[in-house]
Amino acid sequence: MNLADLAAHVAAQFQSHYGRPPRWIVAAPGRVNVIGEHTDYNDGFVLPMAIERYAVMAADNAATLGVISIYDTQFKETAEVDISQPVTKGQPKWSNYLRGVIAGFQQHGLAVPALDVAMISTVPLGGGLSSSAALEVCTATLLEAATGKMLDPVEKALLAQKAEHEFAGVPCGIMDQFISALGREGHLLLLDCRTRKTELVPMSDPAVALLIVNTNVKHELGSGEYAKRRAECESAAHTLGVTSLRDATAGQLEANQGRLDAVAFRRARHVIGEIERTVHAAAGIRASNWTGVGQLMHASHASLRDDYEVSCKELDAVVEIAESIGLAGGVYGCRMTGGGFGGCAVALVKADHVAAITEKIASVYHVKTGIEATIFSSRPAAGATIIKAD
Ligand code: ADP
Ligand code: MG
Repeated sequence: MNLADLAAHVAAQFQSHYGRPPRWIVAAPGRVNVIGEHTDYNDGFVLPMAIERYAVMAADNAATLGVISIYDTQFKETAEVDISQPVTKGQPKWSNYLRGVIAGFQQHGLAVPALDVAMISTVPLGGGLSSSAALEVCTATLLEAATGKMLDPVEKALLAQKAEHEFAGVPCGIMDQFISALGREGHLLLLDCRTRKTELVPMSDPAVALLIVNTNVKHELGSGEYAKRRAECESAAHTLGVTSLRDATAGQLEANQGRLDAVAFRRARHVIGEIERTVHAAAGIRASNWTGVGQLMHASHASLRDDYEVSCKELDAVVEIAESIGLAGGVYGCRMTGGGFGGCAVALVKADHVAAITEKIASVYHVKTGIEATIFSSRPAAGATIIKAD
């Protein structure tokens, strides 16, 4: 469903649930990271894209003072948030993403009004496409509309990130909320995780698209391995005498190979190489050098699989299938995206080959793994928007 249809749909849901039309409609997208994996906590670069999947909210002032009611049109469940005092964590669980953002507005000294809200999301839940950030940034955008106070987009993204840390208990980086808040249609976002500086990278060539392939597996070892990788990177940086791996060069790493154990060396080689690949990919996209960008994506996957060891057989299967389709079949490049051990792969493809590539990946993946993949394509979408305001 495109955004206009989605907005109309949620407006109709609001109307039937509350018996009047909404005053505001807002949306915020999910995202896919095109390249730059496991670089964020090493002060490096990431290159995410907002996808054409959104959290959307329709709302109006409420008759009941001191309460924000949120009706989830998918779960058919309503959350009641008491705003007459500082908002705290509560039930249902999903309401914490919204509660955290409302609390953030209160902490900014903004008078949050009582609201009736209906929401829907087309970002798959828990699929690694950041339905959580979409929900947070959507909530912040709604509160901007309802309070008339527009936040600086960076401040807004940081407020949403804080909600995820403190109310959802997820110690995420800044990427998801930044791209959802700052994305622009037809652009990717090159984000420097050290300085928080952002740069929009135009990608408006209609001949290319990103294909998102959800392996529909999630291996449990994810969070433990994540903590291990972080520690390995810190220790490698320490041995190299730098604050973080962002400050190390490939030459420096080679020169110090004898001082690092084999695992730490490979972890550092991934991070240092990936930061470089991300910067090059942004330049390649600017230049519409799709073959070059595709090669960087393949190199990224190989590095994540062999040096960083965060892939899994299902992600490798998708990438192998994409590689076997190759340029002749319309695939420039493919890699795992997100933390790893399952979740999604992302492929850069020729737009007019999307249907054939989708079918091929789905059928061969099913034969190889016995699992049905979920596949869709997206162009770079807009960040958070107020669709309707008075
Ligand atoms: P991801 O961000 O990769 O989708 P997370 O585990 O971070 O995965 O976030 C998923 C959680 O976000 C869900 O379990 C749910 O609590 C919440 N969520 C996201 N979108 C919605 C929605 N439309 N309705 C209810 N809960 C949602
Ligand atoms: Mg999330």
